[in-house]
Amino acid sequence: MSSSPVIDQGPDSNFACTIFRAPWVVPVSSPVLNDGAVVVGRNRIIAVGSYHELALRFPDLPSTFCQGILLPALVNAHIHLDLSVMGTVYPDSFDSTMCDWISVLLQKREAANFSQEEIEAAAAKTVSDQYASGVGLMLDIGNLSLQRRDSTSIEIISLLEMLGPSQAGQQAVIATLSDLADNLPVTAHSPYSTGPDLLKFIKRRCRRQETVFSFHLAENEDEALLLVQGEGCFAKFLKQRGAWDQTFPVQGIDSRRVVGYLEDLNILDDGTLCVHCVHLNDEEVKVLAGTGAHVCLCPGSNRFLGVGAAPLEKMLAAGILPALGTDSIASNTSLDLWQEMSILGQEHPRVDPASILAMATIGGAIALHREVDFGSLAPNRRATFLHVQGSEYAKAEDAEQLLECLTSCGRPESVTWVNAES
Ligand SMILES: [Zn+2]
Repeated sequence: MSSSPVIDQGPDSNFACTIFRAPWVVPVSSPVLNDGAVVVGRNRIIAVGSYHELALRFPDLPSTFCQGILLPALVNAHIHLDLSVMGTVYPDSFDSTMCDWISVLLQKREAANFSQEEIEAAAAKTVSDQYASGVGLMLDIGNLSLQRRDSTSIEIISLLEMLGPSQAGQQAVIATLSDLADNLPVTAHSPYSTGPDLLKFIKRRCRRQETVFSFHLAENEDEALLLVQGEGCFAKFLKQRGAWDQTFPVQGIDSRRVVGYLEDLNILDDGTLCVHCVHLNDEEVKVLAGTGAHVCLCPGSNRFLGVGAAPLEKMLAAGILPALGTDSIASNTSLDLWQEMSILGQEHPRVDPASILAMATIGGAIALHREVDFGSLAPNRRATFLHVQGSEYAKAEDAEQLLECLTSCGRPESVTWVNAES
């Protein structure tokens, strides 16, 4: 226990430490603190607790008072930065299927023929907006290799997305990947667009590289229809595009449906992140939980495309704490995790606000295997976290009301960063 304003963390790392004090500190991994404090040194959080306790423990440290709330950075566990240039792509008609929407997206992208510079500029603006909204870590899935943005303050994990819905398509991608630099992280698009051989091949590569394997799962009920019966809008879509062969339906899926099929392929484990998971039945939720695979929900995108809401209550009951993602701006009205939390609260009123905030922070950090640095305010976490303020929080009389407002009032009036990184 130290009472010195300088803490020695190594031979060349003496630096001043500071106590950040605030009316509310929301560590996420431990109870909300009224009149709380976070002690930071260079790079790392040293202690979190009540101001009274920490002021006694570190009597000589300078203290900075933050009006408002201190909480961990948000984690956006699913975004497609290379689609930022598209803006929101609205369906052609009220009764459009998701396949119709995908067709519109592809047509618009082809017609616009954006240059690499335009795509990069729109992606860079999205990154900057995400940081301003309080996102500190994101998983970006793309069809293009974009410039690395190591200079920005957001940590971005980038995966190149692969599709191959036919035998020929799968073999072509496997051949391409075999020639690709082994350190380029790739992933699969979804079970409806990526055949079983390619799913297994990519998962093996992810295991070797120790990278996240993330794909869209059960976003639409037609995915199970394709895999089990070879029918539905995705079957029609593949036939129209000349990509239909004997890959689908997959023989022997029957009642175990899509999650059972993926389990048989041995691609569900702690390194797998399944995105959307709207159309999973009770058994699939249980099986998924048993594999240790992670889940990311994108409620804003699901609402925009009218595909339904994920069975969040059942996931939580099964022991899954999902992460939260915005998906791309093409299928959402804005890329705002505060709005995603609000939508979750509206659609799942019985889920407590603490769980919703956990999804937007520690749920994402765990899913991306970055909980050592992100997701909570706790000793040894990275000393980069949020300071938010707003008149909307003034009415909160207790922790419960504060969490209710944090997850339902939308983006705070002010979001700034406490950054002790050097
Ligand atoms: Zn997506």
